[in-house]
Amino acid sequence: MNEQGSQRRVVIVGGGFAGLFAARVLRRAPVRVTLIDRRPHHLFQPLLYQCSTGILSEGKIAVPLRDLLRKHKNADFVLAEVTGIDTDGRRVLATRPLGDQLEFGYDYLIVAAGVQQSYFGHDEFAQWAPGMKTIEHALVIRRRVFGAFEMADTAVDPAERSRWLTFALVGAGPTGVELAGQIREVATKTLRAEYRHIKPEDARVLLFDGGDAPLAPFGPELSAKAARTLDKLGVEQHMHSIVTDIDATGLSVRAQDGTVTRHEAGTVLWTAGVAAPPVAAAIAAATGAKQDRAGRIMVGDDCTIPDHPEIFVTGDVMSLNKLPGVCEVAMQAGIYAGERIKHEVAGKMPAKPFRYRDLGSAAYLSRGRAVVSVGRVHLSGFLAWVVWLFIHISFLTGLRNRLGALVSWWPAFVRDVRRERTYTTEQVGLVRSTYDVLPPSTADTAPSATGTGPSGRAG
Ligand SMILES: Cc1cc2nc3c(=O)[nH]c(=O)nc-3n(C[C@H](O)[C@H](O)[C@H](O)COP(=O)(O)OP(=O)(O)OC[C@H]3O[C@@H](n4cnc5c(N)ncnc54)[C@H](O)[C@@H]3O)c2cc1C
Repeated sequence: MNEQGSQRRVVIVGGGFAGLFAARVLRRAPVRVTLIDRRPHHLFQPLLYQCSTGILSEGKIAVPLRDLLRKHKNADFVLAEVTGIDTDGRRVLATRPLGDQLEFGYDYLIVAAGVQQSYFGHDEFAQWAPGMKTIEHALVIRRRVFGAFEMADTAVDPAERSRWLTFALVGAGPTGVELAGQIREVATKTLRAEYRHIKPEDARVLLFDGGDAPLAPFGPELSAKAARTLDKLGVEQHMHSIVTDIDATGLSVRAQDGTVTRHEAGTVLWTAGVAAPPVAAAIAAATGAKQDRAGRIMVGDDCTIPDHPEIFVTGDVMSLNKLPGVCEVAMQAGIYAGERIKHEVAGKMPAKPFRYRDLGSAAYLSRGRAVVSVGRVHLSGFLAWVVWLFIHISFLTGLRNRLGALVSWWPAFVRDVRRERTYTTEQVGLVRSTYDVLPPSTADTAPSATGTGPSGRAG
């Protein structure tokens, strides 16, 4: 593959923001681009929480990479998982979905593999507490959140009912805060009039974090405002709390004074911590690159690995000047890598070092309330929410998805209607209940199982 012709070969690992924006820059360059991703779609992760809470369908936040690249005459898409590289032979090694090996020669390599959920050394928590990084996660969370209300409705034992109506979230960063607010809105608005045996608004949402306050990276002022808004929404905030154990029926949490408290919860969601994917370690081993504590690859200010000017690392998996893992960094680094390759191929002087332009950050709290931080400008409340709306519409990939999101947001924001609440209770071809708790990674591929759900009932 890719051995013909005189054009330089650029292999891009990952079709997220960094990889896609690099491919876009190279669209008209005299190079041959191969974009490899283990998933067939480009995902807009910032709106995953809306997919999991029934506002947006998965199709509105993900676009097939083939569709996005269809007008790139110099680009090919490959569905495969990159496992390593051979720097001497300049080959990328990958595995097809059914397991056999592929190889791709490269003259330039752009590593844009993002990050994955980290359970801080407790991977066993994953089976009880799904993370929030992929479409699979969002759909598992949708099943668990809406399924929990159904389980509560038919529970005879008041303790079991109360457990199903308790949702615990670990991590009070933007994702945890957004998800916590959404679950309270689902309970108090969307489902309010739909149940006859429970009051959905009784649902408790517990938010745990080891730090001082929610949304700490937004600074003390916005963080305090976010905490007040969460209070008003009815989210119970447990700061300075370290989760020590999670199981089928709840979690244990250690407070600052060392006391460990058990909380019964039918749904536990993990929104804390990220780590580089395994391919980062393989690339670091092959190139001698250093990795930071989260496993991200450390690069120079031209986004390349020291002594490997042909290998760029961009986006979340890149470790450079403590830049945050946000879309803007990924897009700008992807564009930079693409521009630099274009420059070199054209025989021009090397481009300037990578400089990140911080365009700020935003987090959604609830309908009509958000926080936005742009340099010294700090906004909260309705104005921030309008800015949030504008930012997300502009950054969503594809016109169809932008229009689709607007059409879905209208009933959700104006009438509390969430149209995307569909979830499966059994997988096609498998006899398995929604409420069997399985690790997200195996949830959709597990063989037939008839285990009991967290309630102890047959599923
Ligand atoms: C729930 C959530 C909410 C967020 N909210 C915001 C927000 O509000 N604002 C903001 O700026 N940022 C937000 N972010 C962060 C933002 O989404 C990331 O910074 C951005 O997606 C990083 O882009 P990337 O291209 O580096 O990685 P990604 O977008 O993660 O893309 C990486 C790609 O690489 C592929 N890949 C990984 N390993 C391999 C392999 N071995 N072989 C082949 N392919 C591979 C993956 O399938 C994926 O498609 C959020 C993230 C999450 C999870």
